[in-house]
Amino acid sequence: MIIVMKTGATKHEKEEVITRIKELGYKPHVIHGTTRDVIGAVGDERKKPVLQQIESMSGVESVVPILKPYKLASKEVKKEKSLLRISPTVSLGGKQLCIMAGPCAVESEKQIMESAIAVKEAGAHMLRGGAYKPRTSPYSFQGMKEKGLKILAKAGKATGLPVVTEVVNPETADLVAEYADVLQIGTRNAQNFELLKKLGKLRKPVLLKRGMSMTIKELLMSAEYIMSEGNHQVILCERGIRTFETATRNTLDLSAIPVLKNETHLPIVVDPSHGTGHVKYVPAMCYAAVAAGADALIVEVHPDPEHATSDGPQSLTPQAFAEMMQKLRLFAEAAGRTI
Ligand code: PEP
Ligand code: MN
Repeated sequence: MIIVMKTGATKHEKEEVITRIKELGYKPHVIHGTTRDVIGAVGDERKKPVLQQIESMSGVESVVPILKPYKLASKEVKKEKSLLRISPTVSLGGKQLCIMAGPCAVESEKQIMESAIAVKEAGAHMLRGGAYKPRTSPYSFQGMKEKGLKILAKAGKATGLPVVTEVVNPETADLVAEYADVLQIGTRNAQNFELLKKLGKLRKPVLLKRGMSMTIKELLMSAEYIMSEGNHQVILCERGIRTFETATRNTLDLSAIPVLKNETHLPIVVDPSHGTGHVKYVPAMCYAAVAAGADALIVEVHPDPEHATSDGPQSLTPQAFAEMMQKLRLFAEAAGRTI
């Protein structure tokens, strides 16, 4: 249910409503709007008519059911787009696009530092790099782990770029959160509900990738897992889905962008690297994603793709990334965005 407060409802009136929601066995989530606040009451679907009694409380305008299965993520609860602030200078969901770039995996201090300097120079706003790598084969490079987190954070600080890195299990989430500005949930973990709940308890933005076989609705339900624990800082990532097509690594579902924009207030990031799997297709998908309304891009860039420990074939060289960024400015302008 959504409890819509009257414009000008007092702090005390809101507190009374919050207390009542808790007494009735529901979890309150305050969502601040531009003109009025709404309070989402989430919990057991079967007993929700009891919440209707809140309508008679002072300061309350109305109590309306949320029809979508995802509640806090839905536009029913919050009509305006969410602006997610990552650092004093970097945010997502506003007019300015947010470009995240860097290698698939953190491999060495030299490699991550070179990557950070190059992507910063080309105009990126954030640095990416995996320290924990979920690999299809147990014999493939699994990541530098804590040492990787340390050098990633060091490269981020040196260049002034906030960092995004993957969390692969609940056990290491607190450790990763000490070093990362944004916590990434990979496609293979997008329905790992214990991990989603754990990140919901942390107070760091989460970049949630779409599972490779997940519907858009399921992606929003995974976002709901994080939000229902109290962490509303969620970024949704379209990174391609499994189809019968083999010319590309995945099929980048750009139609997910307008669908998500219709359904949710959360910012949307597109990953054309995993979406296509080939450097030659990455720039075109970057432009198309911006044209379709993405708020951000996450792009793999490696100083020496041929020798990358993972995802070399889809990693742009610093030069190719810089060229892509130049051209992207034109598309951004046409889409009414800045870089
Ligand atoms: C990655 O970002 O390097 C990664 C492993 O992504 P995904 O989970 O989308 O495959
Ligand atoms: Mn990768």
